[in-house]
Amino acid sequence: MINSSINKLFKQSRLAEYSSILDFALSNGYLLTSLADWYENQFYPGRKVIVLRHDVDFIPEGAYKMFLIEKDRNIKSTYYFRWSTANEKIVKSISSAGFEVSLHYETLATYCKKYKIYQAGLVTEEVLRDCRSVLFKEVKDFEARFGKIRTLSSHGELWNMKVGIPNHILIDTGFYKETGIYFETYDQNVLSKFDKYISDSSIKTNHEWKYGITPMEAINSQIKCICLLTHPNHWDYGLIQNIKMLLISLTIRLQNI
Ligand SMILES: [Zn+2]
Repeated sequence: MINSSINKLFKQSRLAEYSSILDFALSNGYLLTSLADWYENQFYPGRKVIVLRHDVDFIPEGAYKMFLIEKDRNIKSTYYFRWSTANEKIVKSISSAGFEVSLHYETLATYCKKYKIYQAGLVTEEVLRDCRSVLFKEVKDFEARFGKIRTLSSHGELWNMKVGIPNHILIDTGFYKETGIYFETYDQNVLSKFDKYISDSSIKTNHEWKYGITPMEAINSQIKCICLLTHPNHWDYGLIQNIKMLLISLTIRLQNI
C-alpha cells in the first residue's frame, strides 16, 4: 500500500506517448476527430477514422495539455467534463477551438449518494423519473455556459458500482427528443458502428489497454473505425498532479466508507 503510493507519486508524464500515437495514426492516413463530427458526417464512409474521446474525471489541466497536442496537429476530439472538472477557462478554450465539449454526467450516482440508496431494488421508476429531470436541467445548465451539447457521456462513479446501475440508464428515446442530443456514448446503436473500441482504463493498472489491443496495433492492422477513449489523468503525470491525485483518491475512499 505504502509502496504503491510512493510509485504513484513519482509517475512520469505519458503525453509524449500520446503524441506518438496521434502521429502514427496520421502517418497511416487516419482521420482523427470528435464523436459529434463523426456522427454529423454519418461515420465518414470510405475513410479510416479514429474517434477521440476523453473523459475528464479528475484534473482538467491534463485535458488542456492533450487538447494542445491535438490542436497542434490540426485534429479534433471530444472532451467530456464532470461538473467537478468543468473549469470555465479550459472548457471554453477547448470549445472555441472547434473541439466538442460536453458533460460527463453522474446524475444517478449523485442522487443515490444523497439519499443513501445502496441497492438496485431501491432505484424505482420514480427515482429514475426524478433523475431524468435533474439530468435534463444539467444539460440546459451546461449548454447555457458552454454551448449546445451534441453527445453525452456517462461517468462510472463508485456509487454506480455499489448500486449496480450505470448513469446511462436515464437515457431513452424521449430524452434524445427533448434535448436534441445525437447519442449517449454507451448507446449500443452507436457502439456497434465502431470496428474496435479501445480504452486506457484498467482495473489493475492505468498503463494497460482495455479490450485486447493497443492503439498502435489497431492502427498497424488498418482497422477502419476505432474509438479511442482516454482519461487525461492517466497521461498527465507529474509531482503536483500525482500529489493531487493521491489526495483525491484518499477523499473518495473516505467518502465511500
Ligand atoms: Zn468517468
